[in-house]
Amino acid sequence: MASMKNVFVNTHPLVQDSLTHLRNQETKLQKFRHHSDKICQLLFADAVSDLQLNDCQVQTPVAQAHCQKLADEIIVVPVLRSGIAMLFGAMHLLPKSKIGFVGMERDEKTAVAHEYYWKLPPINKNSVVIVTDPMLATGGSIDHLLKKVASKKPKEMRVVSVVSAPEGIKRLQTDFPGIKIFTAKIDQKLNEKKYIVPGLGDYGDRYFGTDV
Ligand code: URA
Repeated sequence: MASMKNVFVNTHPLVQDSLTHLRNQETKLQKFRHHSDKICQLLFADAVSDLQLNDCQVQTPVAQAHCQKLADEIIVVPVLRSGIAMLFGAMHLLPKSKIGFVGMERDEKTAVAHEYYWKLPPINKNSVVIVTDPMLATGGSIDHLLKKVASKKPKEMRVVSVVSAPEGIKRLQTDFPGIKIFTAKIDQKLNEKKYIVPGLGDYGDRYFGTDV
């Protein structure tokens, strides 16, 4: 059984409403994108809600005010291809974040991830790396990516996904105890093709319009 400790299911009504539209097989490209961008912004807001702040001062038109700024450098790493769908929401919310790209391809027969592209910004002890994949299914691609990122010793690694399967959560929790996972829903299981049930189908196909 996957432990639900450190898995943060976002129950915000806007998140759950958008998820309903994403799940619905009648939802077409434009609407799917709208709700995907919206849900990703909300999930990312959740994923950074406890990050460290530095105190500062700012001059308003009236007086000096105490203020706070994000202390950490945030690096977002979408798992290609469907992770790119989450980037628009993430960059809108975190315009100063750096973006790394890792291309992983899933063998449709074995569901084993294979890496074909790798370009990450420098990662150091001040970096909070947020790995994004809308469907945390087997967790194979994310697991592979987290292992490589962990070797650079970032301050912290987190995962943001729209829908998560218990199998993928368990795998990440086994390999990275205490890792924080932010998601809109934990679904029932994976099917024989390693798709999440009930899920929403192929996220990348539905977001990029390649599902016809
Ligand atoms: N990737 C998807 O897009 N959907 C799934 O259900 C599993 C992996």
